[in-house]
Amino acid sequence: SDSHFPIPISPAEFDYSHHYPHFFPSSREHHKNDGAPFPKVKFADIGCGFGGLLVGLSPLFPDTLMLGMELRDKVTEYVKERILALRASNPGQYENISVVRTNSMKYLPNYFEKAQLSKMFFLFPDPHFKEKNHRRRVISIQLLDEYAYALELGGIIYTVTDVEELGDWMRSCLEDHPLFEPVPDEELEADPVVKLLISATEEGQKVARNGGQTFRAVYRRIKLEEL
Ligand code: SAM
Repeated sequence: SDSHFPIPISPAEFDYSHHYPHFFPSSREHHKNDGAPFPKVKFADIGCGFGGLLVGLSPLFPDTLMLGMELRDKVTEYVKERILALRASNPGQYENISVVRTNSMKYLPNYFEKAQLSKMFFLFPDPHFKEKNHRRRVISIQLLDEYAYALELGGIIYTVTDVEELGDWMRSCLEDHPLFEPVPDEELEADPVVKLLISATEEGQKVARNGGQTFRAVYRRIKLEEL
């Protein structure tokens, strides 16, 4: 149950020096940084699974802190080990990615403050087919309110799935939400992150091997239109 993993009481309590020691050399130095603002996590991979996306993104944005959130204990431990091994064999690299075991549907506001994030990823989330289980889906109108809160203006939500019904559902939730608008196709084609959604994720690779279809919806956080 949730009591088995520690949850920060607020985003200010999240232990950056533990997750990103390269960026936060010691907790004491936390306080003397010549006034420069400390970096914060900007990308969140929700339900990161085995961490393929984080590993793929890390070298593309070496100065951007990224956090994977994963519910399964063993999978989270695997991702931790994977990142530590990558850091050990590539000194100075992969210092910007980390993972927490958590239930993102419950605890997102404990990790991120308002407008903190510039990208959120929901890649191949669990489908929860049955109608009565739709409330368990990680994209819903209610949860989009939370995601809109955590995202900065212009921030982007990336979603992809191989389940057509879930793809339609995620797109319609985003379409119906007043704080999101679709990112135009030409922008998506130029976005290096888009290519990784399938090629870097373990689920995406599986789907590609089996020649399966994928359904993508990418939306931008916008200001509420004045009526
Ligand atoms: N995104 C990865 C990929 O594309 O390879 C993993 C996809 S996997 C099908 C979905 C993952 O979401 C699982 O690892 C599952 O444990 C995780 N998950 C499901 N509900 C979650 C929640 N509420 N909070 C955090 N992770 C969750």
